[in-house]
Amino acid sequence: MPRLSANRRRVLVTGGAGFLGSHLIDRLLERGDEVLCVDNLFTGDKSNIDHLTGNPRFEFMRHDVCLPLHVEVDAIFNLACPASPIHYQHDPVQTTKTSVHGAINMLGLAKRLKCPIFQASTSEVYGDPAVHPQVESYWGNVNPIGIRSCYDEGKRCAETLFFDYHRQHGLDVKVVRIFNTYGPRMHVADGRVVSNFIVQALQGNDITIYGDGGQTRSFCYVDDLIEGFLRMMDAGPDVHGPINIGNPNEFTIRELAEQVIALTGTGSKIVTQPLPQDDPMQRKPDITLAKQQLNDWEPQVQLKEGLERTIAYFRKKLAA
Ligand code: NAD
Ligand code: UDP
Ligand code: UDP
Repeated sequence: MPRLSANRRRVLVTGGAGFLGSHLIDRLLERGDEVLCVDNLFTGDKSNIDHLTGNPRFEFMRHDVCLPLHVEVDAIFNLACPASPIHYQHDPVQTTKTSVHGAINMLGLAKRLKCPIFQASTSEVYGDPAVHPQVESYWGNVNPIGIRSCYDEGKRCAETLFFDYHRQHGLDVKVVRIFNTYGPRMHVADGRVVSNFIVQALQGNDITIYGDGGQTRSFCYVDDLIEGFLRMMDAGPDVHGPINIGNPNEFTIRELAEQVIALTGTGSKIVTQPLPQDDPMQRKPDITLAKQQLNDWEPQVQLKEGLERTIAYFRKKLAA
């Protein structure tokens, strides 16, 4: 694909075959952009982008972001990184490399091309937070040597690199901190709580609550999140973040299990399993900054509706 003409952007999405990346690509194509999807398919799935085969404005490249990438694009969304604890803990050294070497390579690319670059950072930079809800000015409470550190510290270092490239090389960086997001195209074996509970419920298996289920998370439906991504990339040259993007409605994990049981009508029972090491006890974004800087952005889809859509997706997927 040749580089863009003045009125059409060519956009690179790393991690584009994953859950969030594939939704982002759909929105970019819908609005007329050209998309180059770069993914090594570690946790991503070609089935997430199969529907784009044959679209002349879409191109897939199998590539690991830990290696240099020489392409011509007008904007970069850097999403490549396993996101679920079971996946990022499978090869923790590779996880840190993906965040850090991946960031360096994509920032080097953005520097050469003088193009804006977006980073999918995470609420995990706050660790097990002592400040609640989490505001962007909070520096976090992260164990540097635990089993989650490869992900948390990798993402923290990536943020450092983004802001140093901004200060040192004048790059237009756009960093968002994503809070727990769910929706269609999560992998059946993803391991994160929403997909686990729904798949367990639909298969009539026990619903596995880790710990007593009193820990909290605030769940954002994927469409709301992607709208926030697009507004961030389109925000003016003075907006760099980090900005929290998430749904501030907070639930305990037990409440989530009960909602999934009610909405699926399953006969599954709740069982408890040990709480993993360093599992954060509470999490809820303060989204004041997102509202201010991203044109009144706020989530539109509440948990019940989002769960219904996600359950419908998994019903079809499991029946296929
Ligand atoms: P996902 O696992 O579905 O997608 C990640 C994608 O990155 C996959 O397609 C995977 O194959 C690809 N990838 C991994 N390592 C790579 C490498 N070295 N080179 C190229 N591609 C690679 O996860 P997701 O939920 O879509 O997450 C996307 C991004 O958003 C990640 O950076 C994640 O850290 C961040 N994030 C997600 C959430 C969430 O709740 N979904 C929360 C916080 C942050
Ligand atoms: N890089 C890349 N594509 C490019 C330009 C750079 O992948 O088009 C990589 C390059 O391999 C380098 C990294 O980005 O390792 C950082 O580039 P930068 O120019 O910041 O640093 P330097 O090359 O001076 O180490
Ligand atoms: N969790 C759970 N049962 C599961 C999967 C996860 O109780 O089958 C818990 C997990 O311990 C954590 C919360 O749900 O407290 C969210 O876990 P997830 O892996 O989805 O996201 P993260 O911990 O990264 O926020």
